[in-house]
Parts: sequence; C-alpha cells; structure tokens
Amino acid sequence: MDMKTKIDFLIERVQKQNPSANVEKIRAAYECASAAHEGQRRKNGDPYIIHPVSVAEIIVEMGLDTDSICAGLMHDCMEDTDFQYDQIAEKFGTSVANLVDGVTRLGQLHYSKEQEQMEDLRKMLIAMAKDIRVILIKLADRLHNMRTIEFMPEEKQRSKSLETMEIYAPIAHRLGMQRIKWELEDLSLQRLDPVGYQEIVDGLERQRNEHAEMLERIKKTIGTKLDESGIRNSISARVKHIYSIYRKMYAQNKSIDEIYDICAVRVIVESVADCYNVLGYVHDLYKPIPGRFKDYISTPKPNGYRSLHTTVIGRSGVPFEVQIRTEEMHKMAEYGVAAHWKYKQGVSSKDSNEETYAWIRQLLESQQDTEAEDFIKAIKVDLFSDEVFVFTPKGDVVNLPAGATPIDFAYGIHSAVGNRMTGCKINGRIASIDYALQNGDIVEILTSKETRGPKRDWLNMIKTSEARNKIKQWFKKECREENIVQGREDLDRELRSSLLYTHFMEKPEIQQSVLTKFGYPSLEELYAAIGYGGITVTKVINKVRDETIRARKKEEVNQPLTTNKQVKSDSGVIVEDIGNCKVKFARCCTPIPGDDIIGYITRGYGVSVHRKDCVNVKNSSPEDRDRWIKVAWDANHIEVKERFSTALQVSTTDRMGVMNEVLQILANNHINVRDFNGKTLSEGFGIINIVIDVTGLSQLDALIKKLRSIKGVINVVRQST
Ligand code: MN
Repeated sequence: MDMKTKIDFLIERVQKQNPSANVEKIRAAYECASAAHEGQRRKNGDPYIIHPVSVAEIIVEMGLDTDSICAGLMHDCMEDTDFQYDQIAEKFGTSVANLVDGVTRLGQLHYSKEQEQMEDLRKMLIAMAKDIRVILIKLADRLHNMRTIEFMPEEKQRSKSLETMEIYAPIAHRLGMQRIKWELEDLSLQRLDPVGYQEIVDGLERQRNEHAEMLERIKKTIGTKLDESGIRNSISARVKHIYSIYRKMYAQNKSIDEIYDICAVRVIVESVADCYNVLGYVHDLYKPIPGRFKDYISTPKPNGYRSLHTTVIGRSGVPFEVQIRTEEMHKMAEYGVAAHWKYKQGVSSKDSNEETYAWIRQLLESQQDTEAEDFIKAIKVDLFSDEVFVFTPKGDVVNLPAGATPIDFAYGIHSAVGNRMTGCKINGRIASIDYALQNGDIVEILTSKETRGPKRDWLNMIKTSEARNKIKQWFKKECREENIVQGREDLDRELRSSLLYTHFMEKPEIQQSVLTKFGYPSLEELYAAIGYGGITVTKVINKVRDETIRARKKEEVNQPLTTNKQVKSDSGVIVEDIGNCKVKFARCCTPIPGDDIIGYITRGYGVSVHRKDCVNVKNSSPEDRDRWIKVAWDANHIEVKERFSTALQVSTTDRMGVMNEVLQILANNHINVRDFNGKTLSEGFGIINIVIDVTGLSQLDALIKKLRSIKGVINVVRQST
C-alpha cells in the first residue's frame, strides 16, 4: 500500500469512528510530517513517514481525538527535523504543539538500567506528560517501534526491549490498556529471552489443533446454554498471550506442556446482572476450581479493570479461564484510559485537560488496593505536585521535593559537588542557582576546585534537609574564623535591635547561663555555631530575654521597697528598655528636648538620636527597619544638663544690619552661639546658618518667633540635612 492510500485509509477509518473529527486538520498534519521527513528513511529502508502514519493508526485504534492523531503524525517532527514548536502551534494550535512537544521530551529521556530507577522513571514519565494523551501517543510510538525493532542493531534491540518491559508495559498496564500491554510484553520478551519465547511459540504450535478444538467446543456449549436462557451474548476464545504463559512457567517452574490454563474464553453480555447470570450457567456446565473466582466488578482492579473471572475444568480435564463482562467493561479493559476518548467521541469534540484529569483522579481514588498506592502517588505527582524529577547529564533520575533548586540537586549528588558548585546549566543553558527545578530538566552542575565553597544565603534557597546539613557541615569545618566574625555580627545586631545588648555584654551570669543552656564552652564557640548555622540567633535571643527578665525580677525582690527604680541617663535620652547607653545626637536634624525623637542603632557604636521628621528617618532603607528603636527624653535629666545644640536657617532680604540684629537677639537671650555664617544669594536674598545651644523646644520656639519679627527676615526654620 503506498502512502497516499495509507493516509486515505486512516482518514476513512477516523470518519467512520467519529463523524465529527476534523479530517482536514489530520490531512494537513500528514502533509506537514510528510514534508518534514522528506528524504529520511527508516533502518529498513522504508520512507520515514511510514512510522508516524503507523503510530497515528494505533492512536486511531485507541480512539483518541483529532489533536492526538495530528500529534501522532507529527510526533517525530521536532526531534528529527527543523520543525519547531511555534510552527506547529501556529498551524495546528497549542494543544497539538504541546502534545508533540511532550512526546519529544519523553523521547529525550535516557534510561539507566538500574532496577531501583525504574519506579522513579515510570512516575516521572507520567508526571512529565502534563497531558495523559502524551503518554498514550508515546505508547503508540513505542509499540510501532517494537513492531519494527528487528532492523535495529542487536544491542539496541535488547536495551529498547528492556525499557519497554520495565517502563512502558507497566505504564500501559496501569492505564488499563491491556491490549497494548500484551503486545509490548510479547515483543519485548522475544528479544530479551528468544529461547524461552520460542519454546512457548513451539509448544503452542504443537497444541494448536487441540486448543482450537477445545475452544470451539467450549464456545458452542456456553453459547447454546446462554441462547436457550435468552441472554444475548458474544463469545470469543483465545490462547493467552505469550508473556503471561512465560511468567506462569517461571513462577511455577514448569514446562509449557505442564501449563494447563492456557486457553481463555470471554463472554460479553449486556448488563451487570447478566454477568452474574452467566457465571451461574458456566459453573453449572463446568466444575470451578476453588479459589479462582474473582469478582472485579464489585471490586475493580486499581487500573479500573472490571470483569468476573473464573477458572473451570473442561470436559477433557483441562482447565480454562472464563472472563465475563459487559461491552462497556470490555472497552475499558482493552483501551483503559483511552476509552475515555472513545466514549466521548461525538459527544464533545473539545475536552479540557482538567476534565480528563478529574476523570482519571476519580478512577484512581476509587481504588482501595494497596498495590495501587504507588501509582496513585505517581499520578498525584502531577496532580498535586509535591515532587519533582530531574536528570543528571548521564540520564540518572534524581527525585527532589517540589521547589528544589540546583543547589539541592548538587548536594544530592555528593557534598563535594555542592561545595564546589559555581553555577549550573538547565537543559544546556546557564541558569540561576535558585531556579526552581521542573520535571524532566537535565541539570548540570558547574564546579571549580578554586571556589571558596557554599554561600551562607544558599541556606535560604534549598528545600532538602540533606543540602542543609551538608552546607552547615561545611561552614562548621571550613571557616571557623569567618563563622566567629559572622556569628558575632549576627548576634550583636539582633541583641541591639532587641535592646538586650547591654544586658548580655555586661552581665556575665546571663552569658554563662545561655552558654550552659546550649552547651557551648565559650562565647567564641557560640559565635562560631551561629556563624555556620548550628544554632539560630532567634533561639539565643529568646534565651537571653528569658534570663534578663529572670535577673530583673531577682533585682526587684532584692531592692528595698523605698527605693524608686529609676533609669538614669547621662545624655538626657532614655533608650527604650536599655536606659543608659551611648547616645549621640544626629547632626542632620539636631534634636532638642521637646522634639519627637527616634533612635537608630548604629553599626559602629551606640544609638544615634534623630527627630522623627528628619528626612533621614523618612528615607531610611527597608533593611534598616529593625535598627530603629524607641527613645525618649529623660525629664529628670534635662533640668540638669545645660544645653543642646541645634541648627537654624534664617532667610533674609539682603539688608544691611540683619545679621547684626540676629546676633543682638541671640545675645540678649543669653544664647551660646557655636557657629554663625551668612551668605548673599543672587537676586538680593541672603541665608544665615546658625548653630546654637538651647535648653529645649520651648526656648527655641520663643527665639524663632523673635527672629521672625526682625525686619528683613523672611523665614526662620530648623535645619534638617
Ligand atoms: Mn517515533
């Protein structure tokens, strides 16, 4: 059959199956694929396009929708040709493009042969295929490749067969797609154990007539009985598939001639009630083998399979299996998940992913079987995504929690890889090390022996405890000196912003009880531990706070009741909760008693006091938020302390004598002048900057009033900046 006929045939079949299918789109997809693969040939010399068309045929057989058929036709376009996602999306829509893209990605996976990886791989395959149709198309692709595998080199045949047996057949099984599963298994077995396979083929061949006769007899017997009873039925009889016989032989350690229940009969009826009726008739006609009856109708298999199974002994003493089901159950058994599209055909041409997933989820969650748990979890990887699967450049799967970064990945490989990490590539491109890994990403860690090791902020970028522990371990070991510096800095900053600094520094008993509590022999050890992340600053601070409160309570008890507990300040300012600490007045806004003030814990030393309306307070950077603390004027002390410096700016018209008058008023009010300078601006205006000592705001306000009354003075303001 030439290609033109082949595609016409395919389209005819689609039309028959689903009159609402978009055959123009399918034909266009074919033309596209045909052009893209022009000149390419398969291993056996056939034009390449035969492969995608055959894959599309399997997809039609599964009963999938138009988009899946188009994607099947173009599934190798992205990989093998210059054809790109955008082109497909433009011509066929994003749905088709996503399907092709998904299948292409699955095709790029590398499989290692380690058994323990297989389960992860199966899960990942499902997780990666955001749309279950991607898996179905991939299964069709694999099935056709397996059918034509004989042209591959022998080594490739074996590795592809192993992969099929370990990954694709189980997936087909889990999706309930028996027919594909059986074929995949038999094709794989043929390459993996050619001798064992041939033994069964030969054995079956020897007994072929026997089997055929027996099956014919049984069909007739059961059929007649059911017809008499008025149960509409269709009966098919077959020899079981080769791999299932193979498994039996090995499990029971028997030869092909010792395996009896090789034949199976399937009865399809119209209703569930009929299923049970048929079971009764079959058990009347043949003697059932005890323990072999299984009711998968009341308890469906994890993959949604429903049927009644029984094994009975035939007239010649040979056992055979009978499966009884309705047409609907049969479709489900043959096509599994794909039956979803089969049923829906003609009902609605568009089905959203969400709907599909809801259906699959429902299917899976209704299963109680513990064997199903893994699979449900695997599906959930995608539906609820709490895991992510990525690859090493060699193709090994690494399973990480969702949100994990290349740093987690690096430490997952080996601590040396993490410690030497300098950057990373995701799917061959340089990426940021805090990138959240996506399913299927190929992650390459760039390392260097020269690197100074992990950074502290990596601890905020990781998800796994493994990476956390290894990074902490590194800091603990590698840079004690730095840890001490960093730890001291962190702790001091927190102590200051919690206003506990003085207590901690000046009270050895508080220090000691904190060290004892956490088991550090010295303050230096505590700093080091904070530095490498062995203990959090918060933990230490909480302990210091507890101890401070305890110590205060003790002091209160020990003090005579008559003594007023008073906070003394040398500066005239009380820093919240601390009392007497180093205080300086900010030069930018020169606060004086009466001003609303706020304190800033300086990086160097002490607290700097600003006016609340100071521009530096308003423009303070967010990182400094914690450094601002409450301060207040110490009413008791202000009377004692003489003067506070502040700055004024007087703007004038440049009249001779204004400066003199200003000085006169300052002198009359006994105000100490620290600095005084005037300058003439253009356009006849002048500015006088004055720094004076005052007792407080009331004195200053009175003074400003007097200065404003001078003729030629435009304004008097306090200086800020
Ligand atoms: Mn292919």
